[in-house]
Amino acid sequence: MPQLVTLSVVTPMFNEREAVDHFVARLRPALDGLGDSYEVVAVDDGSSDATVSRLMQLRVEWPQLRVVALRRNVGHQTALRAGLKAARGEYVVSIDADLQDPPEVIGDMLAAARRENVDVVYGVRSDRSTDTAFKRNTAGLYYWMMRRLVGPWVSDQAGDFRLMSRAVVDVLNDLPEPRPVYRLVVPSLGFSSAEVSYVREERVAGETKYPLSRMIRLTFDSITGFSASPLKIATWLGLLSFLLCVVLIVTGLVAWGTGATVPGWTSLYIAVLLLGGVQLMCLGLLGEYVGRIYAASQGRPAFLVAFDTATSSTAHPLSGGPITVDIDAVELVGHPDRERAPIA
Ligand code: UDP
Ligand code: MG
Repeated sequence: MPQLVTLSVVTPMFNEREAVDHFVARLRPALDGLGDSYEVVAVDDGSSDATVSRLMQLRVEWPQLRVVALRRNVGHQTALRAGLKAARGEYVVSIDADLQDPPEVIGDMLAAARRENVDVVYGVRSDRSTDTAFKRNTAGLYYWMMRRLVGPWVSDQAGDFRLMSRAVVDVLNDLPEPRPVYRLVVPSLGFSSAEVSYVREERVAGETKYPLSRMIRLTFDSITGFSASPLKIATWLGLLSFLLCVVLIVTGLVAWGTGATVPGWTSLYIAVLLLGGVQLMCLGLLGEYVGRIYAASQGRPAFLVAFDTATSSTAHPLSGGPITVDIDAVELVGHPDRERAPIA
């Protein structure tokens, strides 16, 4: 089935009121200059600030801007998932709303995809000097770990700024996985790919929505979503503890036989603490995997769309009731020379 537009640009936004005007001011000229029909899918990830209302205002001037509002905050990767599901382009680009990924690079990505006839074009950061030292170090550690656990094809400079063909997006949309980490899943699929390098800029306004706790969550999801090797840690620790126990039993028996059984508080204390700690850690590891199985077996939707401006039958949370989006008024404006295509 032919897609409605050539390009969909998916942008998850969480409390980006301060950044959204800057973002639109740079994204629009970059896309208008492409000469292809496009839509921008702004996914509002349950923002508590005025992101949605500002987007709705901007939409009046820019009909290609489509707002998909989620019912609550579900996190960056899941918001991205909602955007990929909603996107209707032949090519789909995912980009952050804070202008850390320059929108001008989208044109290069599209050109590279066509020129080299590939399914994925990764935006590769040639320079991260604008990130804080903490961010650089934690990101470095994350990619080092992922390359060892997941596979050598994990690029340490590829984030979520990438272009994907319809074929890739369809595969991603069919994944039953509860919390896919796209930067690892996409390369693992083995589609043909190219790279476009860019300089990571500073966040234009507002602050990072990735505190340490979310980074830790992403790391756990990345590991447990791709590898069962941590479970082997439990096996090896168990084996090691067993061998240690055998030695301790022998010394215990010898001590009992020779009548030297009074001292021993320290060794008992240490052994109890150590074994307790190791056991809890292994239980925790198991729990992470069981948790994923649990979430998958529940089969609950990872996100719920409150409204999508491309469909008229959903409720608008700001107006408190259903809204009618004037679909006839919405047109896709590609290059001025090209024919206009209705969006829905
Ligand atoms: N984001 C989101 N939901 C969240 C957290 C972040 O949709 O719960 C969006 C955010 O608005 C931005 C992108 O994900 O467009 C990347 O977030 P951010 O720039 O804060 O992360 P960083 O660049 O600091 O890693
Ligand atoms: Mg950012």
